[in-house]
Amino acid sequence: MIKITFPDGSVREYEKGVTGMEIANSISPRLAQEVLAASVDGETWDLTRPIGHDASVRLLKWEDEEGKHAYWHSSAHLMAEALQILYPGIKFGIGPAIENGFYYDVDPGEGVSIKESDFPAIEKKMMELIAAKEDIVRKSISKTDAVSMFSDRDENYKVELINELEDGTITTYTQGSFTDLCRGPHLPNTSYIKAVKILSAAGAYWRGDEKRPQLTRLYGITFPKKKMLDEYLVMLEEAKKRDHRKIGKELQLFHFSQTVGAGLPLWLPKGTQLRLRLEDFLKKIQREFDYEQVITPHIGHKQLYVTSGHYAKYGKDSFQPIKTPEEGEEFLLKPMNCPHHCEIYKAFPRSYKDLPLRLAEFGTVYRYEQSGELHGLTRVRGFTQDDAHIFCTPDQVKDEFLKVMDIIFIIFNALDFANFEAQISLRDPDDKEKYIGSDENWEKAERAIIEACEEKGLKTKVELGEAAFYGPKLDFMVKDALGRRWQLGTIQVDYNLPERFELEYTGADNQKHRPVMIHRAPFGSMERFVAVLIEHTAGKFPLWLTPTQVVVLPVSEKFNDYAFDVVKELKKFDIRAEVDDRNEKVGRKIRDNELKRIPYLLIVGEKEVENEEVSVRKQGGEDKGSVKLSTFAEEISREVEEMMNRGN
Ligand SMILES: [Zn+2]
Ligand SMILES: [Zn+2]
Repeated sequence: MIKITFPDGSVREYEKGVTGMEIANSISPRLAQEVLAASVDGETWDLTRPIGHDASVRLLKWEDEEGKHAYWHSSAHLMAEALQILYPGIKFGIGPAIENGFYYDVDPGEGVSIKESDFPAIEKKMMELIAAKEDIVRKSISKTDAVSMFSDRDENYKVELINELEDGTITTYTQGSFTDLCRGPHLPNTSYIKAVKILSAAGAYWRGDEKRPQLTRLYGITFPKKKMLDEYLVMLEEAKKRDHRKIGKELQLFHFSQTVGAGLPLWLPKGTQLRLRLEDFLKKIQREFDYEQVITPHIGHKQLYVTSGHYAKYGKDSFQPIKTPEEGEEFLLKPMNCPHHCEIYKAFPRSYKDLPLRLAEFGTVYRYEQSGELHGLTRVRGFTQDDAHIFCTPDQVKDEFLKVMDIIFIIFNALDFANFEAQISLRDPDDKEKYIGSDENWEKAERAIIEACEEKGLKTKVELGEAAFYGPKLDFMVKDALGRRWQLGTIQVDYNLPERFELEYTGADNQKHRPVMIHRAPFGSMERFVAVLIEHTAGKFPLWLTPTQVVVLPVSEKFNDYAFDVVKELKKFDIRAEVDDRNEKVGRKIRDNELKRIPYLLIVGEKEVENEEVSVRKQGGEDKGSVKLSTFAEEISREVEEMMNRGN
């Protein structure tokens, strides 16, 4: 008999060789229907794999990342099996599960291509294999046997992978006529998969190397219920409509010019307005929380980054140094603001009375990204962080975390991100050697972060071993209107840079001490944040933030003068308004300005001019009727005021 320990701490005895599926069945048949895989001593196993020793077991369902992972990985095999039947001679690269679904890199052979029009036939074949309820069987295999097996089938990509594996660790998985080199884990059989969809095909170099053959990467997704697939496809359609690159163009917010360079966004006037307004909003909060603004240059001496350690880490793989013509000095585009801020700290002798010192900067940094990795505003080569560094004593860490969290809550509230969670990244308790900083300080900081989250009632996930070598951190993840998760703000403790830059303060004991440095950026970067905000709001920004709040539409040219008077009046209330004085029918003007996502449309004609009124139409079509212009202006000002103060 062996002892199985469950997550709640309870222990049950089972016969040696019991499987995850048998354990699930012994608890309840309903549970057995829902489990997809089992976590055995922290490793994900097939439900059919016998457990031969005492172990901690967690049964994994769709809701568990690892369960979903096994599900989608099995779906990749299912797609490969269908492809092998439909495209004899097809060769396979790798086929992993990803965040949403899975892909398989395939080489269909000379002159053969797999196009979107082929997807229905592949899906149909997959459904047939599901109906056949094929068992998915794991087998250990020697390296020699694996090589000869895949060589026989001319699977040269697989043979290359096998040659890099250690003998004794190799396993295959077989279902029907298809066998894959694979570590698993997998579902017990193909019938677990209920709904399938091939999503897209793209080119992908074998092993990401452009000198190697280009394969076809087929993306797909599957679900345990047809309804879930339908909902997912609706969400995808909506996501396409909300793509920030598309809306950014429609609203004339930003532009990319290949002449300026890939990944270097040009902010257009409307986008700049939006961004500056966001910056002002943040600066106001920073002032309230006693931050001091600083400005530092876009480049720094190479030695600065050698000292900070950034050169050793990024130097070779990033933008190369800029050299002066005569002196041979070397400068780097700044990849981070922190080293500059450390030098500001060092500009004066500091005492404990100066701490915490909070230095804030909207600092633009440059990092090299491969051109294939660039994506709209979310992956760029130059971006501006809403950065700040807090220098404090070890005892002040918790208080500072609480304050930064307050700031983050104010921001998320004002921008309608109701749904967010946080991840705490801590040390690996079994490998404390690899971290810099004293044990005592680490313990203090880790405890401070956990307590701060508890005090704020924040939903958190704790990840052991995920901390950087230089300190623990807290990352914020927001869920957007479509339920997609985006990583935004971060708060990070750092024991490394104060050490490298030899930062000091004089304590109350008159002795020299090292301050702790905290990096924090609630938005991450202005670029990324604006991208997320566009996709979250579909370009319908909150009233306080949107570049144009009101557009006035005269029903004919006769009323243009009045329309401009209206704009002038609204300006007195700080309301951003413009006139659409094109010689178009008013119906056309309404349609065009709805597309620009302007929150308020004011229609003016004979009656409005006479009564000093405006006829108010809200974005989306709601007709509010005619009101006095002054009443409208006051209402809008109040609405903006309330939104900006929300959460405060
Ligand atoms: Zn596999
Ligand atoms: Zn920093």
